[in-house]
Amino acid sequence: MDQPAFTLPPLPSAPSRILLFVAMHSEAEPIARALGLVGGRGTVAGAEIELLTPGTCAITRVDKLGPVHAASALTRAIAARRPDLVLNMGTAGGFESQGLGIADLVVARDAMFHDARVELPGFDALVRAHTRLSPNDAQLAAIAARVGGRIGLASSGSSLDATADELALFARARTLAKDMELASLAVVCSEERVPLAALKGVTDLVDHHEPTHEVFLRNLKKTSDRIAAAAGGFIELVAGS
Ligand code: SAH
Repeated sequence: MDQPAFTLPPLPSAPSRILLFVAMHSEAEPIARALGLVGGRGTVAGAEIELLTPGTCAITRVDKLGPVHAASALTRAIAARRPDLVLNMGTAGGFESQGLGIADLVVARDAMFHDARVELPGFDALVRAHTRLSPNDAQLAAIAARVGGRIGLASSGSSLDATADELALFARARTLAKDMELASLAVVCSEERVPLAALKGVTDLVDHHEPTHEVFLRNLKKTSDRIAAAAGGFIELVAGS
């Protein structure tokens, strides 16, 4: 569990086309504004950036968040756009026990699924999909210093809440961030051999007593703004300038 079973290609030295995946409209809006994107497109650090959001569900009329929609949207976008780098920015639950607070930033070193359990050799590693993301240790350190963030594991699942078993796993794995998309993006990038890096901002504290959804909604704007303010510096460093 502690060692990633999957790896991704290294960061490209001068990417020309970057796909920036953001799950929710309310997260994407301040990021697009901060990066000066027009119609979801722009140029940052010499690279063409295209914003990718999975969009709104026609039936439920809410953002298509979660791992399945993320994988589906990214698979289609990679086929259509052939990016040389995929980035993910978005909100996440953080862990007070790891010293994190609201609006703190996490630069993901690795990602996995915390709600995938198959006790069969090989299949366990497959479904957990523990993946080392593209930035190497030196790059992670430089990025984290630039944005003022922590470096560590981000864990994904299909739920906003967490079970007692999952809380134990988060503590054991020293998880810093809990989201609903990154590990699925990592699986797609691993299959497609496209580099991936991620920046997460803490909207709520998973190991705190307050109900997650209330804290999430209260901090969504503040944290999205914090991610947006760091977005340019993050991209400059992952793009190698
Ligand atoms: N209830 C919210 C729905 C979004 S919450 C609303 O009404 O708008 C989940 C989204 O935020 C996902 O995209 C996920 O990646 C991120 N997220 C933030 N905090 C999270 C947490 N504690 N656990 C899982 N995902 C979290």
